[in-house]
Amino acid sequence: MPRPVLLAVEDDPEALRAVEAELRERYARDYAVVCEGSSEAALRALEQFATEGEDVALVLAGQWLKGMTGSELLRRVHQLHPHAKRGLLIEWGGWGDPPTGEAIFDAMAHGKIDYYVLRPSWTPDEVFHSAVSSFLLEWSHSQRTAPHTIHVIGESWSGRAYELRDVLERCAIPHAFCLADSEKGRHLLTRAGDDPTLPAIVLPNGRFLADPTDSEIAAAAGAAVDPCESDFDVVIVGSGPAGLSAAVYGASEGFNTLVVDEGGIGGQATSSSLIRNYLGFPRGVSGGRLSEQAYEQAWVLGANFALMQRVVGLDRADGRIRVTLSDHGPVTAQAIVLATGASYRRLGVPSLEQLNGAGVFYGGPASEAAGLKGLEVYVVGGANSAGQAALHLARYARRVTLVVRAQSLAAGMSHYLARQIESTANVDVRLGSEVVGGGGDGWLDHLVLRSDAGEEQVVEAQGLFLMIGARPRTDWLPPEVARDSRGFVLTGSDLPGDSGWPLERSPFLLETSMPGVFAAGDARHGAVKRVASAVGEGSIAIQLVHQFVAADRLGQNSPQSLRSGQAAAAVE
Ligand SMILES: Cc1cc2nc3c(=O)[nH]c(=O)nc-3n(C[C@H](O)[C@H](O)[C@H](O)COP(=O)(O)OP(=O)(O)OC[C@H]3O[C@@H](n4cnc5c(N)ncnc54)[C@H](O)[C@@H]3O)c2cc1C
Repeated sequence: MPRPVLLAVEDDPEALRAVEAELRERYARDYAVVCEGSSEAALRALEQFATEGEDVALVLAGQWLKGMTGSELLRRVHQLHPHAKRGLLIEWGGWGDPPTGEAIFDAMAHGKIDYYVLRPSWTPDEVFHSAVSSFLLEWSHSQRTAPHTIHVIGESWSGRAYELRDVLERCAIPHAFCLADSEKGRHLLTRAGDDPTLPAIVLPNGRFLADPTDSEIAAAAGAAVDPCESDFDVVIVGSGPAGLSAAVYGASEGFNTLVVDEGGIGGQATSSSLIRNYLGFPRGVSGGRLSEQAYEQAWVLGANFALMQRVVGLDRADGRIRVTLSDHGPVTAQAIVLATGASYRRLGVPSLEQLNGAGVFYGGPASEAAGLKGLEVYVVGGANSAGQAALHLARYARRVTLVVRAQSLAAGMSHYLARQIESTANVDVRLGSEVVGGGGDGWLDHLVLRSDAGEEQVVEAQGLFLMIGARPRTDWLPPEVARDSRGFVLTGSDLPGDSGWPLERSPFLLETSMPGVFAAGDARHGAVKRVASAVGEGSIAIQLVHQFVAADRLGQNSPQSLRSGQAAAAVE
């Protein structure tokens, strides 16, 4: 087997020598280490590897190369070797040099590099090696060669074989697919007996599962599918960022906590290949990785999980709150956290789905706007949120175009916002239009727009924000849990006077109209719809559960404290 390539390029011979020595010393057994002294030589080598079909795992380039900057070279690397990780080499303190700092910021914002790496300054330089090893781990994940990969074998890519991959994806489990009649497929099937039922999965420990159910997959991968008990302190519905955060805080603060999810872990976050705005991850983090680590953290702190179980009912029973799980039946708790999130309507254009996080974004532009300075940006959607996003982006972008299906802005947007958009010089509106295609090489560079009349036009675009409708997953809730007109759960001071709130005390901040039932994250009316805010709300919900428990001790959650009118009526 040819070894994957690690390539470094620097035109300062001394700097190159230091990088080469560290790379050869630590990685030469498993990787082919190639070091070049100029951008031309590096490009020639990379083109040759591409022609010969050799895998390139990592390219490290100094920024101030003669002839071409390192970030420009690394942008080209992406065209030749899309899976290669790319690090910009800088010397210690280089970020304080304004042109270098600007180059890092620009290269990160436009996806030209994965991150910057400090040149080695010591032997062994463990800071350098930690950066290189994490690049190599990410590369092996993207190549589906990471350890503990589950293999799915099917007769075709579609049908149940696709569903199995989807379940593994939703459980954030590394997996790879092969066709049954491929060399690898035939090899894996030798363990399956004479007439294996397909599709099938092979676990890292060699166990073979023929056409497993979703629950069997979760159970085989070590995820619990049934609650271990029937009564808990807190039941959390949903294991997206809000639910996982509530699980970490609930379990760490001594509550007997159960998390139920109809799929795997991570919710919407698992569909984000790179979350760049979550605190503490300067290089960004994939939603799958973040969810995996949060799940592990909640689990080691003692949270219980029941995955592949949809919650279908919520009511009161004998002084407890009861939730009903689709396959398992009821469990009870003192308090519930609803963290069921929302689902965005997807555009369904495969070439754009691939650029999710690389110029294509679902939801608002909170953190990406500044990186789009001077560029062409499109926002799709006709509601207020899309209008606000366009105005926010207009402060940075050269031009923002709002793409709206309807024939007028008034159809979905407040009058004041529509007027503001019309009077903002660098915001255009394309009515009766939709995005039907587009793409780019590692980063979005064009879109295809289609008008009502069927005319298609290719336009330059470096940013696309899709705000085509978030739908909360709350239709299973009972009427006692008040929601807004779109189904988002109302909480705290957002609860209207006629919400049916039954107690004398006011509802707590994230408490719904059903005392003891809290809501956190995207399912909640007014939520910011970001990973960090969902995580924040999940932790706050647990603090409020503490307050709810204290109120219980004081008798403030009991029927005696019904509003005085209701109490009087009850006495009569
Ligand atoms: C493509 C994409 C990219 C994004 N990128 C970013 C980004 O870069 N940065 C950022 O900050 N935000 C990003 N977001 C937004 C972010 O992912 C969400 O704001 C966040 O995931 C919301 O978390 P949540 O826990 O409230 O809900 P969700 O993540 O939606 O999780 C809800 C969970 O509840 C489960 N569930 C629902 N109903 C039931 C039921 N009845 N029974 C059992 N389980 C149920 C679902 O299966 C799901 O797992 C992105 C969103 C998308 C779609």
